This record gives sequence, C-alpha cells and structure tokens, in this order.
Amino acid sequence: MSTSSADVRGYDVIIIGGGPAGLSAALILGRCRRRVLVCDSGRYRNHAAHAMHGFLSRDGIAPSELRRIGREQLQPYGVEIREAAVADVRREATRFEVTMEGGERLLCRKLLLATGLVDRLPDLPGLPAMYGKSAHHCPYCDGWEARDKAIGVYGQGCTGLSLALNMKTWSDDVILFTDGPASLSRSDAARLARHGIGVREERIARLEGRDGMLERVVLEDGSFVERRSLFLKTKQEQGADLARKLRCKITEERGVETADKHEETTCEGVFVAGDASKDVLLAIMAAAEGADAAFGVNCALQEEDLA
Ligand SMILES: Cc1cc2nc3c(=O)[nH]c(=O)nc-3n(C[C@H](O)[C@H](O)[C@H](O)COP(=O)(O)OP(=O)(O)OC[C@H]3O[C@@H](n4cnc5c(N)ncnc54)[C@H](O)[C@@H]3O)c2cc1C
Repeated sequence: MSTSSADVRGYDVIIIGGGPAGLSAALILGRCRRRVLVCDSGRYRNHAAHAMHGFLSRDGIAPSELRRIGREQLQPYGVEIREAAVADVRREATRFEVTMEGGERLLCRKLLLATGLVDRLPDLPGLPAMYGKSAHHCPYCDGWEARDKAIGVYGQGCTGLSLALNMKTWSDDVILFTDGPASLSRSDAARLARHGIGVREERIARLEGRDGMLERVVLEDGSFVERRSLFLKTKQEQGADLARKLRCKITEERGVETADKHEETTCEGVFVAGDASKDVLLAIMAAAEGADAAFGVNCALQEEDLA
C-alpha cells in the first residue's frame, strides 16, 4: 500500500518516546520552532517505581509527575503529543515514514528514538511485587533508602561479585545470594570474605514480605535469612525494535550506538537518546542526552535549510 498525500503529514522531527529523554528533546526542539511530534506508547521503564531519586531539583518526585510537568512545559511551543505506539519506521528518500499502530502514516525529516529499555527480572517467586519497592537494580537510584539496612544481593559470578562489593558503599550488612553455585574464583571469594560479605549458595525458594517490603529470603531447605532490601541486575532489552528496522548499529553492551556527535546513530538522520543508547542509565542522563540530540537534530535541519 503506498502512502497517499491525504494520509501523511510532514514533521521536522518525530520523537518516539515520551520519557525524560523524549520530553527533554521536544522542549529544545519546540523552542527551535520546529514542527515536533512526540509518540508515546505509555510504557515507561520505571513504571514500578514510586519515586525517582537523584534528578537535580526533583529528587524524590513521582516519575509520572515529572512527565506531567515535562508535557505541560511543552504546551507554549506547539509540540504535538500522541498517546500511541509506533509500529514501523522506514527511510523514504530524504525523509522517514512512521507508521502508527492503527496504520496511519506520517512523514518527518529527522527521527529521534527515545524508546528506552525493558527490564527482564530473574524468575524469583515474590520478586515482581517487591520490584521498585524493596527490590532494586540501581544502587544510585535506591541505595540511599537502603542505607545501613540488611541488604541482600542476587547474582552469580562477576555480576554478583561486583554488585555485592558495590553495596558496601551503602551498608556494612551485605549478603550475596547466588541461588546455586556462586561461580566465583578463590580470590574473588576471599575478596568478599575480606569485606565481610557472606555468600549463600542454596537455591532460593521465594522472597517473603508484606506490601512489597522484603522481610526474608527463604531458601529451598526451609531456612531463611532476614533482609530488608534486595539488589539485583536485570537483563535489559531495547524498548522497541525500531532501531534494528532502520539498520542502526546495536550492541549488547552499548545499546543503539551513536556514530559521532550529538547522539546521531550510525544511520544518517536518526538520533537516539536516553536508555536506548546505554550509558549511565539515570533519568537525568536521559534528559541530558535528549537535549544533546535535539541540538544535533536542529543543526542538521539548519544545514539543509541554510545551505
Ligand atoms: C524500577 C526503576 C527505578 C528507577 N529509579 C530511578 C531513579 O530513582 N532515578 C533515576 O535517575 N533513574 C531511575 N531509573 C532509570 C530511569 O527510569 C531511566 O533512566 C529513564 O526512564 C530513561 O528515560 P528514557 O526516556 O530513555 O526511557 P523511558 O522513560 O523508559 O521512556 C521510554 C518511552 O518510549 C516509549 N516507547 C517505546 N516504544 C515505543 C513505540 N514503539 N512507540 C511509541 N512509544 C514507544 C515508551 O512508551 C516511553 O514513553 C529507574 C528505573 C527502574 C526500572
């Protein structure tokens, strides 16, 4: 089916993603008098969190409130927002065609992917209800709230080792749960012991607690260890498949790669910001990358318009 002139509209830039990265980019681009559309499917990485920490001037704010303020501040600049998912993207000569989930097709000159990441939790009974309340993946986001408490760390091998050592910054009472063989070298095990970190290799039966607050880690033999919070690494996947469809370079370690400067990907005219390009995965970094990408988008448009 070809695109007819009746069902397409041209934007300077379509931003896919309405988290901190996308909204920050939209603010700068709106102020650059660009015709901007933000598409937001409403699936934010931190949906399980009640409070967002470490964002200058907004420490402890509810993530939804940050987005509300962000959207409100876009209003004077005529930025359009659609609560809708983008199903497909493709390059069409010098422009991009964006297909919405309902089938509508839109055109734009530049694309900004701010589609974030999705976390996959390990299969631990009891964990989903605690994730974002007393079970966390990011010490920089939630370590302060767990300070001086009984902290459990979940993980095997180097992952468990480094996270357990990390958590000593926030509490002296850290136990590493490996849920099976620890897969640690003798020197790594000695390093943990040297820093007072106990290791439990028994299989975990479940996490127990109340109202999402961890009270104990129950092991398969029925014994348990009292803990007040659990830190673990999640497996992360791209929030959308769009960068791959555009043939942008993506790596496991770095996410959608940026080629040069101002967050342009390896695919000309396609920019990326926020968690989708893995750097430091904090909201304030996502917002900063959004602003950087907006700068890159506007410069690229100026180059074309003022050649
Ligand atoms: C439990 C938890 C707690 C956290 N706590 C903190 C904290 O305290 N402090 C902190 O700094 N960071 C915290 N983070 C990290 C923070 O949430 C992320 O760094 C931040 O949200 C990244 O912003 P983003 O804009 O890149 O992605 P997101 O906020 O995840 O936004 C992605 C956007 O892309 C949209 N999207 C995806 N695919 C499509 C599509 N096909 N079509 C349209 N839209 C699409 C989504 O709907 C969403 O709008 C936490 C993360 C988690 C998981």
